[in-house]
Amino acid sequence: MYAKTIDFSKFSSIKIGQPTEVLMIENGDVIPDDRYLVGSANNLLISPAPPPLMMLSKDFAYIQKNDGMLEIGAAMPTGRIVSYAKKHNIAGFEFCAKLPGTLGGMLAMNAGVKKYEIFNILHSIQIDGNWIKKEEIEHGYRFAKLKGIATAARFQIVQGYSQELNDALRNLRANQPKDPSAGSAFKNPKGEAAGRLIEAVGLKGFRKGDMAWSDIHANFLVNLGRGSFEDAKYLIDLAKEKVYKTFHISLEEEIKIL
Ligand SMILES: Cc1cc2nc3c(=O)[nH]c(=O)nc-3n(C[C@H](O)[C@H](O)[C@H](O)COP(=O)(O)OP(=O)(O)OC[C@H]3O[C@@H](n4cnc5c(N)ncnc54)[C@H](O)[C@@H]3O)c2cc1C
Repeated sequence: MYAKTIDFSKFSSIKIGQPTEVLMIENGDVIPDDRYLVGSANNLLISPAPPPLMMLSKDFAYIQKNDGMLEIGAAMPTGRIVSYAKKHNIAGFEFCAKLPGTLGGMLAMNAGVKKYEIFNILHSIQIDGNWIKKEEIEHGYRFAKLKGIATAARFQIVQGYSQELNDALRNLRANQPKDPSAGSAFKNPKGEAAGRLIEAVGLKGFRKGDMAWSDIHANFLVNLGRGSFEDAKYLIDLAKEKVYKTFHISLEEEIKIL
């Protein structure tokens, strides 16, 4: 393992943070249990004083066929997984196009689009060197209790990559803001859309400093320039407070605040 300084104001998708020392984990290292693991920071909001951080090095960015299954390292970026699936005519990964992050981030968040979620196609995850079948892992809408750091995952190989599905899911993204964000700020409450609730309390397009609830999709907290952690946190707390007062619904953050 080795230390590396990462400037989260550039690295994170929401462009908030500061240069921070991160411990890079290499193949064979014992993974520390007192550090927070960052994937590629597409779902994170980094405070001025985050906990000690670590990341998986490129040793964990691989795809190989193993025992008739596809084994993918947890540091593999989703874009490269989709390219591989397309090249080898493998079905199931189409929804990962335009879903920024690493496989590890997808597993921890059970990331997905509409009915397509990573756990649907998953066979097992390697945690602390052990392969754990998905049936043994508690998971649901945008969460999975991994009980450790995922270093790789296996998927059954199903032939038949669908360009049509890829295109259809990409088109769904067309209504998403282009400004830097960390994706949806809140999970959708059961039977509701967080964006609709934020809009209903008058916060769609509401701005504090350079941070705003997007005027394109109200559940996206966007950075319009030099947005700060403080302004982002203010807007998150404000939305929670207003939605609770009006609808008695407690919004739960999807983004992780460190
Ligand atoms: C523009 C935009 C659109 C998005 N659209 C969607 C969408 O449609 N659907 C959706 O589900 N998400 C969406 N997201 C959120 C994001 O793409 C996913 O959550 C993605 O899976 C995050 O991956 P990451 O590697 O960046 O993880 P990070 O943001 O770095 O981390 C997310 C969480 O995963 C944990 N984690 C990361 N790697 C591992 C590992 N190896 N083992 C254990 N835990 C790990 C981290 O500790 C953290 O808790 C969007 C984000 C953006 C910026």
